[in-house]
Amino acid sequence: VIHLEDIKKSYFLGKNELPVLKGVSLDIFKNEYVALMGPSGSGKSTLMNILGCLDTPTSGKYILSGHDVSKMEDNALAGVRGKEIGFVFQQFNLMPRLTALENVAVPLIYAGIGKKEREEKARMMLERVKLGDRYKHKPNELSGGQCQRVAIARALVNDPSLILADEPTGNLDTKTSIEIMEIFGSIHASGNTVVLVTHEEDIADHARRIIRLRDGVIESDRVNEKKEALLKS
Ligand code: ATP
Ligand code: MG
Repeated sequence: VIHLEDIKKSYFLGKNELPVLKGVSLDIFKNEYVALMGPSGSGKSTLMNILGCLDTPTSGKYILSGHDVSKMEDNALAGVRGKEIGFVFQQFNLMPRLTALENVAVPLIYAGIGKKEREEKARMMLERVKLGDRYKHKPNELSGGQCQRVAIARALVNDPSLILADEPTGNLDTKTSIEIMEIFGSIHASGNTVVLVTHEEDIADHARRIIRLRDGVIESDRVNEKKEALLKS
């Protein structure tokens, strides 16, 4: 699904270059479940934004589901993003004036799907994250965990092959985090590829593979022994 070759990313502040990713090469295959870890400032969000086609690398090659997205213009990139990727953010990024149902349906508007079908699909997705009874609520009428479930439903509504989540439980308490991780588990079990950033070892232990970034390079990339042991037992 993902093929990265020597990805570099610098931010430029005036004449000052801040190199953040210093050559990341990586393959992630269909239906993998990957946790991305590393210290604050190591470049995790920068890498996720590139993976999610929200940002472009300074140099290097990125092939996503057969498309060379490192060479694409913004419009084409937005098209691939809409079809291939569901992105979940730490701060949920819901539209405050829209109901849960309307928030989930937003990506379908961009996909050019009619109102009735949009509502049906959005309802189905809300059922899937167990929020079927809250579809009329606005974000400020929902708990943090419920908001994140709305955001996950929105990420899934276009049936993307790749789900990316940048610290999806970063703003949630432990109990709610566990519920959210159960949802990611079921997304993975239903055949999706999942990449998620976390600071917490407990959260990372849900994944089959753990990649650690440090100072813009991959420090380690290994199978999660704990999860393997659990699956074999
Ligand atoms: P955290 O765990 O705190 O979320 P992170 O690993 O996600 O950290 P990034 O957000 O990728 O780290 O940031 C890496 C570095 O790039 C940091 O030093 C940050 O200040 C810098 N940076 C990030 N975004 C920008 C930007 N838009 N412009 C300039 N510098 C940036
Ligand atoms: Mg970050």
